[in-house]
Amino acid sequence: MKVAPMSAIAARVSIEAPPIPLFDMKRQQARLRHDIDRRLARVLDHGQFILGPEVVELEAELAGFCGVRHAVGVSSGRDALIMALMAANVGAGDAVFVPGFTFSATAAVVIAVGAVPVFVDVAADTYNMDPAALPAAIAAARGRGLAPRAIMPVDLFGRPADHAAFAALAAAHGLALIADAAQSFGAAAGTARVGALAPITGVSFYPTKPLGAFGDGGAILTDDDELADAVRAIRTHGRQGDGDVAMRIGMTGRLDTMQAAVLLAKLAVFKAELNRRAEIAALYADRLSGACGLPPADGATRSAWALYTVRVPRRERVRAALAERQIGTGLFYRVPLHRHPAFADLAAGQRLPVSERLADEVLSLPMGPDLTDDEAHAVADALLAAL
Ligand SMILES: *Cc1c(COP(=O)(O)O)cnc(C)c1O
Repeated sequence: MKVAPMSAIAARVSIEAPPIPLFDMKRQQARLRHDIDRRLARVLDHGQFILGPEVVELEAELAGFCGVRHAVGVSSGRDALIMALMAANVGAGDAVFVPGFTFSATAAVVIAVGAVPVFVDVAADTYNMDPAALPAAIAAARGRGLAPRAIMPVDLFGRPADHAAFAALAAAHGLALIADAAQSFGAAAGTARVGALAPITGVSFYPTKPLGAFGDGGAILTDDDELADAVRAIRTHGRQGDGDVAMRIGMTGRLDTMQAAVLLAKLAVFKAELNRRAEIAALYADRLSGACGLPPADGATRSAWALYTVRVPRRERVRAALAERQIGTGLFYRVPLHRHPAFADLAAGQRLPVSERLADEVLSLPMGPDLTDDEAHAVADALLAAL
């Protein structure tokens, strides 16, 4: 019988450090629990679970936060994008340009309204849809008999896309512009926040997004009165005002009052949380600079740091080494959109070299407002050792 010597056991125990998950929402809940309990109790007392006063209050706060005229609380980020597409009358035979490197929902929403997603490669220096690649994609879509109708840039990992460039392209080619800001609520470009960077913007309040609910939720942000009226009608079965007559095709797309109550509590501390995420990003950048590919950063945009994603060689080995130390990591995204089985027939043979390379190299590290400096240093130590 082989027994490990006591010294080996002691060494093993001494390096056993507490786990550091990719996302940790438990600490935030503990921090805000009192206020959330109070707000949820108030909802139970008044009982207006559909479009109750908390939804109205949250919409006003979200609009004020982003500096836009309208915020419409909706059921999820996916539904926000679908309703924005419906409000823009995007449908059968239309092409919608989406980045090749993003979450699958960006393409699925286009298919959900009957249109065709056309994949555009991302830029190596931003990871976001490359404006320079768009004109060729528009020509290719025309060549396939599709009517170019809309551009849907994604603010990947929380960093705003080049919305000014897309606005110019949309104007030049007569296209609608719908921002998939599911990951970037709170981010900014120049002096404008996400929500004010595109004519209509969909955000997600999925629990792990920068502003996360305790379930599904989202919002549509716009300065356009007509688009706001349209999405308000669409989220309630196409009704306008109080009547039960369907003025257009709609859906059940409302943010519920319970989630609005949770989000009000979280929005109250959100600016401080964004600052904390930025501090952690700066700490990671400082520690990891020169050792691996750092996320794009420049002075003009302020990321919401939904994810801190580096590029590493031999990713599986690095990931396993971090897992050994109980550090959670994520692969966002392991497969570029044109290689998803659900979309592959739309993109037969298409090559998106930057999207493909990123999919092979990206590794997301623990990030969140409650991560401590010591934990971030431990993540950096482990990553540097693994590299
Ligand atoms: C999360 C996400 C969505 C979908 O948001 P849900 O609220 O989960 O429906 C859409 N697009 C992107 C880029 C996302 O990250």
